[in-house]
Amino acid sequence: MRDNFGRNIDYIRLSLTDLCQLRCGYCVPDENVSCLKAHEQLTYDEIKEIVAVFSTLGVKKVKLTGGEPLLYPKIMSLIQDLKKLTGIEEVTLTTNGIKLPETMADLVKAGLDSVNISLDTLNPVHYAEITRVGRLEDALKGVTAAVESQIKKVKVNTVLLPSLTEADLRSLVNLAKDTRANVSFIEKMPMGNQVATSALSEAEIKHLLTQHYGEVTPFLQPLGNGPARYYEVEGFKGKVGFISAMSRHFCETCNRMRVTSDGFLKTCLAFSHGVNLKQAISDGCLEAKILEALQEKPKRHLFGQEVENKELKSMIQIGG
Ligand code: SF4
Repeated sequence: MRDNFGRNIDYIRLSLTDLCQLRCGYCVPDENVSCLKAHEQLTYDEIKEIVAVFSTLGVKKVKLTGGEPLLYPKIMSLIQDLKKLTGIEEVTLTTNGIKLPETMADLVKAGLDSVNISLDTLNPVHYAEITRVGRLEDALKGVTAAVESQIKKVKVNTVLLPSLTEADLRSLVNLAKDTRANVSFIEKMPMGNQVATSALSEAEIKHLLTQHYGEVTPFLQPLGNGPARYYEVEGFKGKVGFISAMSRHFCETCNRMRVTSDGFLKTCLAFSHGVNLKQAISDGCLEAKILEALQEKPKRHLFGQEVENKELKSMIQIGG
């Protein structure tokens, strides 16, 4: 399906839950944010119905997010059911990695196509500070389980936080050097009332890569469904990528919409408007409501600006 700017929207990011074992500061700014009650969440059948209708409208790729999607009890059967839907070519997942050691084999059996692991540092002290409650070793066991599994693609996503040191950065980059994982560095987007923070920039990181590792060349073949731009580094098994929504936004090629775990369809991460798909299902007008929302999809984000309909929810309530 195409929006008013001619962009082909063929990818949805679907949040399965707002529960998570971790409490990362930029995702859960307010520790007291209340979680949705069970009856407020989409039911299993509602999720299937929403993806089925999206697939008839041209959506081919589904990213399962959260909170932490591996806390969703029926994750394995859901992946299987979504993969059976005509038109759905890829089902992928973003996780904090903690439950991967115990679930990786079943995820591969269920047909999961790729896994993204959120990991903002390899320094155990920084990790505990960023996640408020997590242990780095648990996430690292998840990375190992993923790269050693049969899954097609493994990606590590790192949000560029002010606390990220050069030593930290190099240890993350070494994951792409020594394993098949692709490592992507993501500029932090100021969600809600958060402010944009400065951290190591894409240019600075590329300079460090050249200085310490050798030639860095653009990798032009598509590697995922997202906006990351990848580079090959001499002698690396994996690629290094950048998602720079603030300094090099990619809205002109946006291909996605998001569905929150309570069924709210967001046409853009940065804005609050959208439609309630749970209500649309009970009113029997799901397809019409999706197409109505598509007409409202904004041209681009205006992060950092005081704008009407600015999204005030936090990442954990939206699903990243
Ligand atoms: S900020 Fe909005 S328009 Fe831009 S890429 Fe993200 S979802 Fe698309």
